[in-house]
Amino acid sequence: MPDPSPIFRFAPSPTGALHLGNGFSALYSFAAAQATQAAGGRFLLRVEDIDQGRCRPEYEAAMLADLAWLGLVWETPVRRQSEHMADYAAALATLDDAGLIYPCFCTRKQIAREIAAAPSAPHGPDGARYPGTCRNLSKSARKDKIAAGTPYALRLDSAAAAARVAANLTWHDRGKGIQTCRPTAHGDVVLARKDTPTSYHLAVTVDDALQGVSCVTRGMDLFAASHVHRLLQALLDLPTPEYDHHRLLLDDEGSRLAKRQGSISLADMRAAGTDPVALRRDLGFEF
Ligand code: GLU
Repeated sequence: MPDPSPIFRFAPSPTGALHLGNGFSALYSFAAAQATQAAGGRFLLRVEDIDQGRCRPEYEAAMLADLAWLGLVWETPVRRQSEHMADYAAALATLDDAGLIYPCFCTRKQIAREIAAAPSAPHGPDGARYPGTCRNLSKSARKDKIAAGTPYALRLDSAAAAARVAANLTWHDRGKGIQTCRPTAHGDVVLARKDTPTSYHLAVTVDDALQGVSCVTRGMDLFAASHVHRLLQALLDLPTPEYDHHRLLLDDEGSRLAKRQGSISLADMRAAGTDPVALRRDLGFEF
């Protein structure tokens, strides 16, 4: 059997206009796929639209138009996460059967209060970790709260999960080499949100596996998230892709570009008459 084709993906969330940093990320992945064309390299676009409160169809349409303007070509149909909730539910059921998830009824305010009150709240790569309040609720307390209609998220019991997997899970990052997974680094992450029955960590891990992604390219801001993804791969018996976390583009003040900060959008650049070929070259991509 020949090796399967290398598969790369760009996986944006349609929560606003794409900015130059998103464009860089998309081009990075596309160029990686192009570089493996002789081996059948493929490029996928995935719409990460689980946050139905923030994602909008018009953002998605604009996003596709911006990427086409940049010169990207992707396979169709595009996978839209909101259409695949059954896949995430199946993964949750596997983790539930193994006793590795629990309902969490805490509100953001309660969590913040608990963290502020703790003398030395444990911190992970993204700040203070969830203090574990609901992990210790009794079965009957959980039942009562659910029966009363209290909204809940599902969290991974990271300590129990760590005990379940090999001690030395690793993955390879193209820039940083072999990495060793720290399964509890992020604590008990949310795998299903109160408002949607999955989460970024769960959906991205399941999708990368289902789509056969062989190399996950994305920004350095998501480097630490790979600890969670590697752990989930081990728990769900999914393959581990290679990773390639690229540099982030910074603005003149040295802050990273962000949709929420109103960084200049690709649509603005297009409207201002920017030449996409020159833009690609300025960003370091020749194709
Ligand atoms: N959807 C994520 C974002 O827009 C990226 C996911 C990933 O590449 O792992 O930030």
